[in-house]
Amino acid sequence: MPDTREKTLRLALELGRRVGSHKIVDDPDILASYAKDESDAEPRLPDVALRAECEADVLAALELAEKTDVPVTPRGAGTGKSGGAIAAEGGLVLDCTRLNRVVEVSREDLLAVVEPGVVTGQLQALLAGEGLFYPPDPNSLETCTIGGNVAHNAGGPRAFKYGVTRQYVLGLTLGLVGGARLEVGRRTVKGVAGYDLTALLVGSEGTLGAFTRVTLRLLRNPPVMATLLVRFRDEVTAGTAVSRIVAQGLVPRVLELMDGVVVDTLRRAGAGAIPDGTGALLLIEADGPTEADVDDQVTRLAAECESAGAIDVLMAKHAGERDRLWAARRVLSDAIKERARHKVAEDIAVPRSRAAELLMGLRVVGERHKVVVASYGHAGDGNFHVNVLWDDDGFDPKPCLGDIFRLALALKGTITGEHGVGLAKRAYLPWEQSGEVIALQKRLKVAFDPRGLMNPGKIWL
Ligand SMILES: Cc1cc2nc3c(=O)[nH]c(=O)nc-3n(C[C@H](O)[C@H](O)[C@H](O)COP(=O)(O)OP(=O)(O)OC[C@H]3O[C@@H](n4cnc5c(N)ncnc54)[C@H](O)[C@@H]3O)c2cc1C
Repeated sequence: MPDTREKTLRLALELGRRVGSHKIVDDPDILASYAKDESDAEPRLPDVALRAECEADVLAALELAEKTDVPVTPRGAGTGKSGGAIAAEGGLVLDCTRLNRVVEVSREDLLAVVEPGVVTGQLQALLAGEGLFYPPDPNSLETCTIGGNVAHNAGGPRAFKYGVTRQYVLGLTLGLVGGARLEVGRRTVKGVAGYDLTALLVGSEGTLGAFTRVTLRLLRNPPVMATLLVRFRDEVTAGTAVSRIVAQGLVPRVLELMDGVVVDTLRRAGAGAIPDGTGALLLIEADGPTEADVDDQVTRLAAECESAGAIDVLMAKHAGERDRLWAARRVLSDAIKERARHKVAEDIAVPRSRAAELLMGLRVVGERHKVVVASYGHAGDGNFHVNVLWDDDGFDPKPCLGDIFRLALALKGTITGEHGVGLAKRAYLPWEQSGEVIALQKRLKVAFDPRGLMNPGKIWL
């Protein structure tokens, strides 16, 4: 029996003939750029990559994958944090970044049809120029792609008010292993025909099919916006403010929390002067149709923060001030890495009302395992990026990570709020989901991909 590498090289030869050999990558130096993503998962060099330029390229690869029995791993920008774009079992990487056309923007129907390799931030900038708004804003938006966002159902700071990617995907075109082309979903605002396969495919982590087109719902750009930076003495007080804001029914578009270690990191990353004594920050943004509406929101948000014990509430008045804050927020993940020899970042979520309990619990876990725990994230959604930092080369982080997941689950939360299971959390999925639920998902996978060739090795062990 030929091994996967041999079979993939054979596939590459035929694929090159069909789509053009210049789109095939077999140079190990270039393939190295496909070996990992932004997770801590073990890198693996794929055998070959295809730089797809059109839908026909994707379908040809999928047809040949079935004929030659070769695994296929779709890939966007490789910013994923769970190992989803790593070809865990070798084979072909399907690089979708050159499938990057904006096919249509309709102001009348408030939708856009795009290819999966379109960079999220670039799409948002293009739409903003037309007064339109695509809200999902993962902090990687300057590089990540819409295809990757759909596959991971990406969230972002604005999810508190506007929701995550799934709420904006109306329809999908995709290829299945074997080369079949499917169109699912719709262009209408409403529609209930049949099972909601679009919703199933969003968040499927590249394990069911490869997207070639995405129909996205758009909004009109909210004209007025204000940004608040609220200082607290510690993260538990900040968490209490979050719970109060939620309980009062206030819906700012962003409600981000940073704990003390993160505040210090922000300072070093050039976020401007943050006064001493700041043990936690809330970054809050409100938007709305008029100045009066936004002013009213700001007054009520500030009052809730002050009642929870805020030190002070600062307004970022100028666009420059705001941009500097957000630029620093977006590079936090890398900046935190600089603080210790080792870092593992987790992505748990709990019901919003339990944010303060989670933060208190994380403090205890850090003390128990003698590590620094730095947490920040989308507090309005109860979704925190929990960074475990340590210097001792002999330290095994697994027991500490286990305690973090147990804490999230005990608070009725989840092991992943937005980064997906991929390779990184396969072992922990059974902690959250029953055997029956996992078995049902495996049967759904077989319905799309009977040969198990689409991004194998992901989600389940
Ligand atoms: C600094 C930083 C900040 C981040 N902030 C956030 C955040 O705020 N919110 C958030 O949700 N995530 C965040 N992420 C994680 C990551 O950016 C997102 O998961 C993003 O959606 C991945 O997009 P990508 O194009 O890089 O996809 P990749 O990493 O290349 O792939 C991700 C998954 O999508 C699949 N895939 C890619 N293209 C296709 C396709 N055409 N068809 C089918 N499957 C496909 C892959 O197989 C893989 O499983 C962050 C990452 C970094 C490094």
